[in-house]
Amino acid sequence: MIIALKKLPEQQTLQILCDRLKAIYVAYDNKHLLVTPSKTKEIPEDIMPLVDRHWIFPDDMQLASRQFMPEKRTINISGEITIGGNTNHCLVIGGPCSVESEEQIEASASFMKSLGISVLRAGSYKPRTSPYSFQGLGKQGLILLDKMRSKYGLKIITEVRDATHIEDIIEYADIIQIGAKSMYDHGILKRCGKTNKPVLLKRGFGSTLQEFVQAAEFILSGGNPNVILCERGIRTFETKTRFTLDLCGAAYLKHHTNLPIILDPSHAIGHAYGVPDLAKACLAMGIDGLLIEVHPNPKVALSDASQQLDHDTFARLYEDLKKLANALNIKII
Ligand code: PEP
Ligand code: MN
Repeated sequence: MIIALKKLPEQQTLQILCDRLKAIYVAYDNKHLLVTPSKTKEIPEDIMPLVDRHWIFPDDMQLASRQFMPEKRTINISGEITIGGNTNHCLVIGGPCSVESEEQIEASASFMKSLGISVLRAGSYKPRTSPYSFQGLGKQGLILLDKMRSKYGLKIITEVRDATHIEDIIEYADIIQIGAKSMYDHGILKRCGKTNKPVLLKRGFGSTLQEFVQAAEFILSGGNPNVILCERGIRTFETKTRFTLDLCGAAYLKHHTNLPIILDPSHAIGHAYGVPDLAKACLAMGIDGLLIEVHPNPKVALSDASQQLDHDTFARLYEDLKKLANALNIKII
């Protein structure tokens, strides 16, 4: 249940209310909210005079639900760049899987800038499947991304892999990416609840939609309202593609949650040949953003080489996306 209080009580009273109701206090949009487990369906009578409104839910998808907030929330990335809200905007984010060197990230940044893309992606702490693969440049990569931000005026999305470097990611990123493998990392989720920076939360490839949204609830109930969901493919019986992009899931999230949704066709299919078709399908279904891996020379990429688009292919895709967006009355930003 979410209970909106008429006004913020004294600290001691608030603590007593939280203890009695087993609730988390969340300040949101000038509202004072007590969020209890969803199995709570009634408010004790003596508390009622303090209550302005309340919402009852069938499950623990509460702050993220449309029932609580019928409009999709708007998240400010920085300055004039926003995602979500009541717009027909689709934010296209591009860039390599990893920051590999200054030359590589500079080639990526200048290319993205030349196309008019405003957010550059690249990981610097890579959660690899094997300890023998490239693990990312770490802090050095963040410093390079920061340089690209200043030089090209791009915003940066980069991934936090574990709690050891979360403070650095919060400091350097414009959008913090929580990867599919970290969706259940409660240290990361809880720390991200304590910043106001936008967080892109990727769906674990073995997670249900309920589990995915509940992971987002950790960040929201921690006090950070700026959560973007990212569907990036789930594991199914199919082995010909790396994962299966769950467009049904995306439709569900669109309908039931108030969070902006980004789709990542690159990690879903795992092969560059399919990324343009999938990206167009994603745009056509009406989502808030696309995350696409693009590398100056995918053949030599140090991670996810098979799925990254080369610059020519991405430039053609970007043109096609703009044409499609035009026909659908969507604005690519
Ligand atoms: C990535 O974006 O490079 C990445 C590791 O993605 P995911 O967490 O979806 O596997
Ligand atoms: Mn990748």
